[in-house]
Amino acid sequence: MKFCTHCGSEINDNAIVCIKCGCTVECKNINKPAVQPEHKSSASLVLGIIGIVFAWLFALVGHITSIIGIILGIKEYKETEKMTGLVLSIIGEVCSIFSSIIGAVAFSSVF
Ligand SMILES: [Zn+2]
Repeated sequence: MKFCTHCGSEINDNAIVCIKCGCTVECKNINKPAVQPEHKSSASLVLGIIGIVFAWLFALVGHITSIIGIILGIKEYKETEKMTGLVLSIIGEVCSIFSSIIGAVAFSSVF
C-alpha cells in the first residue's frame, strides 16, 4: 500500500490516480504554485552579486542593481520562500552605502 501525496488516503500500489481525490499520484501540492525548478537562476541573486561587485567600482550602479535586486528578492521570497537573492541584494546595497560614504570621505579629505 502507498498513500496519496495529495489527500493522504490509501491507494493501490499500481494506481496512477487516487480514487478519493482524483489527483494523479505525483501531483502533490496542488494548492501551491507550480514547483519552482531547483536550479532556476534567481534574478535577485544575480543582481545582488552585481550590486556587491559594482558597489566598490561604481557606487551608483551598485545602488541601482541592489535596489532592483531587493525588489525582485522580496517578490521571489514571497513566491519561493528563498531569500538568498534578497539577502545578497541587501548586502549589495549596504556595500554601496559604505562605498558611497568612503568615497565621500576620501573625496572631502583630498580637497
Ligand atoms: Zn488523493
